[in-house]
Amino acid sequence: VRTLVIVLGDQLDLSASAFDGFDAATDLAWMAEVVEESTHVWSSKPRTAMFLAAMRHFAQALEEAGRPLHHVRLDDADNAGSLAAQLRVDLARLRPTRLVMTAPGDWRVLQAIQAEAAHAGLPLEIRDDRHFYVTVREFRAHAQGRRSLRMEHFYREQRRRHAVLMDGDEPAGGQWNFDADNREAFGPSGPGAVPPRATFEPDALTREVLALVERRFADHPGQLDSFAWPVTRDQALQALQAFIDERLAHFGRHQDAMWPGEPWLHHSHLSAALNLKLLNPREVVAAAETAWREGRAPLESVEGFIRQILGWREYVRGIYWTRMPAYAESNALAAHEDLPAWFWTGRTDMACLHDALAQTLSHGYAHHIQRLMVTGLYALMLGVQPQQVHAWYLAVYVDAVEWVELPNTLGMSQYADGGLMGSKPYIATGRYIERMSPHCQGCRYDPGERAGDRACPYTTLYWDFLMRHEALLARHPRMALQVKNLARLSPDQRQAVTDRAAQIRRGEVGALPA
Ligand code: FAD
Ligand code: SF4
Repeated sequence: VRTLVIVLGDQLDLSASAFDGFDAATDLAWMAEVVEESTHVWSSKPRTAMFLAAMRHFAQALEEAGRPLHHVRLDDADNAGSLAAQLRVDLARLRPTRLVMTAPGDWRVLQAIQAEAAHAGLPLEIRDDRHFYVTVREFRAHAQGRRSLRMEHFYREQRRRHAVLMDGDEPAGGQWNFDADNREAFGPSGPGAVPPRATFEPDALTREVLALVERRFADHPGQLDSFAWPVTRDQALQALQAFIDERLAHFGRHQDAMWPGEPWLHHSHLSAALNLKLLNPREVVAAAETAWREGRAPLESVEGFIRQILGWREYVRGIYWTRMPAYAESNALAAHEDLPAWFWTGRTDMACLHDALAQTLSHGYAHHIQRLMVTGLYALMLGVQPQQVHAWYLAVYVDAVEWVELPNTLGMSQYADGGLMGSKPYIATGRYIERMSPHCQGCRYDPGERAGDRACPYTTLYWDFLMRHEALLARHPRMALQVKNLARLSPDQRQAVTDRAAQIRRGEVGALPA
């Protein structure tokens, strides 16, 4: 073997840079399924199944493309258990003269592979990941010399540079940002008829994976009975088409809204296909822009959607790769509580959290506002150690890869980076959830109550958060108003909040018997 091309579970793209110049006569692709990737965080069954099913279908695609592959399967008797250990064994066995790979999505994996290449004394060529619009070098250049980083500047720069939704030098429709139009709740009659999500009946290969995951990871969280994610490029393209035809037009307006028992709404559900590289963001963005230009979707929906991909997705990747490894350790609010155990089971009597957790565990999916303003908000205000929150988000979602999950969790959701990603901590009382969903109507708690038996834990923890971080937040220009409201509370009222928050932290509120 001349060149061994390392392919990771989130690099399932035949046109990835690692394959440039691939010569089937002398080169060999290498892919390994290892237990460590499901145990370094307690990976849910849907997430592990997503990766393994997509990898096995990609192995088929490589074969069809005539590219030789060394494929180590999870159930191989001599599987070494970790990427590093497996690579060490295979380098000794296959004796390549050099290693090539596309830049990985995970700092830990990069370190492990570099260490193994060095140990074997082999050159390792790491190529830019062309999947992304922006290289890490370009992001670093963008970030340098700016006092503060803001997604909006970055996003406008990318719109111009890649001529996305532009009319000449001007943003299409004369406006860069339609966020203000995209925050509506559903009316009392709910979201109406939501089109069914694009589902892909597991084929024999996927069914084998589902059985393997059930067997091997029996005690891991989550369920597999409704597994229907796209696991091939063809399926991912069909899912994209279905989103453009059936959902995009309604994506924007109710982007932040929630409805009980409706996990899919008008979101795209394309994050896993994108992150595993079954889809290229350029084709997704182009399909959305074309739909607007052809009059099939309104600009506020299309802009709102494109902002997530060309803006946020690229931006968080830049943050990750320019801030690691220190970023993973950040804990600006010195939060140290444990994550409640029921995050892994959904056994809570809080209606909003129960709904978000149940769909997370059964599908490996929740939309952005559920992640940010239901699960994330609760953990933030409870004061959970951010690394535990990170381990949960990385474990439970089918789209979870560290470069995108970590900045969203530590930065945007938990304010652990002290305001690098988001300009302020996202905190709110239960009233926010009441406004964006009908959850509170079916809940034993009252979002308007701050203390006492029926107090909504979000509302209690909101006031408790303000009190605990009063000095820090009073200095923050965008938080000062919220902190000022604290002055209205008498010492007795403050004490009642503190007492109730302590009950919540002791697990006396919110948890259902296991
Ligand atoms: P849509 O609402 O249809 O959005 C379209 C696409 O935009 C998504 O598919 C995704 O690729 C991209 N996107 C949207 N929001 C973001 C964002 N904030 N950052 C980066 N890309 C974005 N996204 C992941 O892909 N993997 C994760 O592990 C992940 N963890 C998260 C953890 C927390 C605490 C939070 C608050 C957000 C996280 N997100 C993550 C971002 C976002 O919630 C998901 O991308 C989105 O919910 C996926 O569903 P969708 O494909 O239906 O998205
Ligand atoms: Fe959630 Fe509080 Fe509303 Fe219950 S009352 S659904 S806990 S926000």
